[in-house]
Amino acid sequence: MTRTTTPVLVTGGAGFIGSHLCEALIARGEYVLCVDNLMTGSLDNLVDFMRHPRFEFRRHDITEPLALEVSAIYNLACPASPVDYQRDPVHTLKTCVQGALNMLELARNCNVPILQASTSEVYGDPLQHPQVESYWGNVNPIGPRSCYDEGKRCAETLFYDYHRMYGVDTRVIRIFNTYGPRMQVGDGRVVSNFIVSALKDMPLTIYGDGQQTRSFCYVDDLVRLIIACMDNENRHGAPINAGNPEEYTMLELADLVRELVGGNSSLTHLALPEDDPKKRKPDIEQARVVLDWEPEVSVRDGLARTRDYFRTVLARKPSKEES
Ligand code: NAD
Ligand code: UDP
Repeated sequence: MTRTTTPVLVTGGAGFIGSHLCEALIARGEYVLCVDNLMTGSLDNLVDFMRHPRFEFRRHDITEPLALEVSAIYNLACPASPVDYQRDPVHTLKTCVQGALNMLELARNCNVPILQASTSEVYGDPLQHPQVESYWGNVNPIGPRSCYDEGKRCAETLFYDYHRMYGVDTRVIRIFNTYGPRMQVGDGRVVSNFIVSALKDMPLTIYGDGQQTRSFCYVDDLVRLIIACMDNENRHGAPINAGNPEEYTMLELADLVRELVGGNSSLTHLALPEDDPKKRKPDIEQARVVLDWEPEVSVRDGLARTRDYFRTVLARKPSKEES
């Protein structure tokens, strides 16, 4: 892609994944405009590059239209943790649907490519394993997760309709569970919960029997895939799964975290949240073939890096629950 001083837009750029994407784009010479309403993101995530001459932050909610000159759009704005996206489900749906519409209109007006951060949740509680992109999913349309799952599914529909109707260059990736530095201490996701609890010598909370599985991708690997997808001249095309197929039960993950952190944390069992998917693992053949992409960071190495990050954060400031 040709570099210009016209910025690339990263919505949700103050969030966990978005901040790493902004940083990587700056590092390769791009001008970056980060738009975020700071609902689940934080300016703390931007401190390393906030004053960079090729970076700008603008506080804005993407459910409202934006009129700007941009050279590409990465649409990441949306809370991703179940705890976060269920706090205001109507706003989550508006972010997914109205936000996508606003960003697609911007892409159309600027005649630039737009990438959608979709999710493995479009497969719901999958009846096929591992999940291939051609699988249509098994999603409850009226449950507590539906604002996110159905919102993201509707956003995908909009992306493909904008391509068919207006020729907008749309790209859709389906992100599987991703983890790493800059996750929030209290975001409720399993990796942050387990590591933070282990670092505090508190019990790790297993929801249900802990036999449900997830496949965990380190954030640097994901950011490489996001950029590769935007760079790929042959996209538009079918959605692409973005994840690391290393699959763990939550009990196995808890054991690995306890081994990496040390200490004496026990396990405690809590109720399984409604509609919690029983298993999840991406088939990544498309990412391999179309984007020449492979995950490079093992779950063990990635968790060790994430442990080091949370150790620093906990040493720096008291967590929300403690303050
Ligand atoms: P995050 O909550 O850390 O980041 C989301 C960012 O979007 C936050 O900075 C938040 O303030 C911002 N935001 C939310 N609603 C907004 C709105 N209406 N207008 C402007 N900004 C808004 O989550 P994340 O883990 O970094 O996820 C980023 C994207 O990747 C999301 O779209 C999410 O659905 C997708 N995704 C993430 C994962 C994962 O495991 N992390 C998995 C699948 C998909
Ligand atoms: N989970 C858990 N303990 C926790 C947090 C989550 O056992 O403290 C489980 C949760 O029920 C789910 C899995 O871990 O089965 C992943 O949860 P997360 O919220 O990280 O992501 P998602 O459900 O969106 O995949």
